[in-house]
Amino acid sequence: MTATPSEPTSSPSLNVSSVARDELDDERVVEPVIETVNLSVYYGAYEAVRNVDMVFGKNQITALIGPSGCGKSTVLRCFDRMNDLIPGARLTWKITYHGQDLYAPDVDVIEVRRRVGMVFQKPNPFPKSIYDNIAYGPRVNGWKVSNMDDLVEEALSRAALWDEVKDKLKDSAFALSGGQQQRLCIARCIAVEPDVILMDEPAASLDPISTAKIEDLMEELVKTYTIIIVTHNMQQAARVSDRTAFFTAEVDDEGERHGRLVEMDWTKRIFTNPTDQRTEDYVSGRFG
Ligand code: ADP
Repeated sequence: MTATPSEPTSSPSLNVSSVARDELDDERVVEPVIETVNLSVYYGAYEAVRNVDMVFGKNQITALIGPSGCGKSTVLRCFDRMNDLIPGARLTWKITYHGQDLYAPDVDVIEVRRRVGMVFQKPNPFPKSIYDNIAYGPRVNGWKVSNMDDLVEEALSRAALWDEVKDKLKDSAFALSGGQQQRLCIARCIAVEPDVILMDEPAASLDPISTAKIEDLMEELVKTYTIIIVTHNMQQAARVSDRTAFFTAEVDDEGERHGRLVEMDWTKRIFTNPTDQRTEDYVSGRFG
């Protein structure tokens, strides 16, 4: 995937100060880790996401919500450059990571994927032992780890899985339950010391108890990491996130659908007093 450094087609101005504080009900600062500026994402000629300005704050959980097909996963996959792997995918205008252009020609994509980890809807452990799932990342990154056992324990502990697996580290990861496998995938992500964790419907395939464990875990993880989650579960977005971005799909004059950001704000505001009627309709269940 390439980024085309063309000039934005509509106002690209991202007034960070205007989103830095919620004047009504939240005094917290949004310290930008990832920002999109007039971002559009294409699959071939199809513009799946159009003109999106967003800021993702450090040590905050941001939820992306909206009906299916409005581009939430597409946007998420831009942040670890996973869309690079899709032939024909490209973006305009810009995504920055700690102020640097994420799509600049000299950016090391492998390093991006280490610093920006991804957890998928379906747990995808490697066909290896629990231990080797965690050790894999540091090994392929060529890290000189003085004590891999400690690193494995640390990652599993941070993912709230250590107590459940400490006596069976050499067992296959596939022997774990779905919820445990998902926490293993989170531990595998943590093991390479990321900065941002992307989660695409991380609890959609899990039972309610496993889902609650993942949500509890997110509350712990956000103290260290910046988390961006796509979820269809609005209660989950309301429970876990600090900020919420609501997307919808708009149909243009040619009848083509494009994902658009309707608004992004503190979660409390989005769910109780959103600015846009479309958000109100969606969060109150009248649409989508
Ligand atoms: P959401 O996550 O909100 O459900 P997606 O990002 O999956 O939405 O999809 C947004 C739009 O992009 C949809 O119209 C979808 O069909 C299209 N799309 C997603 N992935 C691809 C792809 N690999 N190739 C072509 N079109 C795609």
